[in-house]
Amino acid sequence: MKIVIKGFKYRIYPTQDQKIQLAKTFGCVRFVYNQLLAKRIDLYKTEQKSISKTDCNNYCNRELKKQYLWLKEVDKFALTNSIYDLDSAYQNFFREIKKGNKNQGFPKFKSKRDHHYSYKTNFTNNNIKVDYENNRIQLPKLKWIKAKLHREFKGKILFATISKTPSNKYFVSFNVEVEHEVLLENSNMLGFDLGIKEFIIDTNGTHVDNPRVLKQYEEKLTKLQRQQAKMVKGSNNFKKQSIKIARIHEKITNIRHDFQHKLSSKIVNDNQVIISEDLMIANMVKNHKLAKAIQDVSWGEFTKQLKYKSEWNCKIYHKISPWFASSQICSDCGHKNKEVKCLSIREWVCTECGAVHQRDENASKNILKEGLRELGIAI
Ligand SMILES: [Zn+2]
Repeated sequence: MKIVIKGFKYRIYPTQDQKIQLAKTFGCVRFVYNQLLAKRIDLYKTEQKSISKTDCNNYCNRELKKQYLWLKEVDKFALTNSIYDLDSAYQNFFREIKKGNKNQGFPKFKSKRDHHYSYKTNFTNNNIKVDYENNRIQLPKLKWIKAKLHREFKGKILFATISKTPSNKYFVSFNVEVEHEVLLENSNMLGFDLGIKEFIIDTNGTHVDNPRVLKQYEEKLTKLQRQQAKMVKGSNNFKKQSIKIARIHEKITNIRHDFQHKLSSKIVNDNQVIISEDLMIANMVKNHKLAKAIQDVSWGEFTKQLKYKSEWNCKIYHKISPWFASSQICSDCGHKNKEVKCLSIREWVCTECGAVHQRDENASKNILKEGLRELGIAI
């Protein structure tokens, strides 16, 4: 048994009054975030000073709440967490810049037009309750909300994130400390290559097709968007159409998540050491021809799942350096075959040892070798 933090997400059905309170909270969270961002930018411009997240929070409590009394009407943890999120965005920005990643954007102001609303609240003094018997959840400032509690958890709630989707559905996601039964140990080691046509190609010679979910729904989406373009902006029909479009996007995300969860669970279950590339996704998305396909394949989410599932189960997941030329090296003799660089070459023969390679299977073998070398594991 191991103590890990897991997420449990439930749909909630707020009443009209609760919807108003939620809308207020989403608004206040955005307001505080933007106020503090403006303050931090201004302070840096005028005095070249930066302020800590605690000072930011104090400023909110002492100044903002006096000036804007309505801030007191919402969950105070939501405001503090929003200020802390801004601080994380700052830290993240400077860390990436230091690393030499020029693609990391500076924290942006939150727009009213962004239709992803959420806020985070903390668990203290039993302020959050889950009532499985009556299918309801209690949250600070909201009292009991009807919920669909489709699965139970046992553990300590750390915090809850309340969100509203663009299709007007509400959810609560709990981060909970739970006991996790660690998977059995084995001696298998797996390397894999990530692709667009095939999602992964691994060292066992397994090829898994990319479901290309977005592509499946693209025609339908384009049709709905074309219809919407003819509607009066802001009209009831226009809004209804937006919801239809949002629902398809949610469906796409759900199908993709389902596929990725099944695959990442299987990989972690079957192997002890797992190695992949560290793809510079931000750089690749800049290539507009590939951008859509890369967003559709969503490698980032998949490798995130591998990372935490490996941690839960005391297994090793390692990403090798993105500059490693995995496809050009012969996995049998180590000779670098530069002419293989061209992506259209799917099969090739090593000029040094004569081995015949399938491009991606060879790459995955090199990825595994390089990963084990970086980890200092001898085979
Ligand atoms: Zn060779």
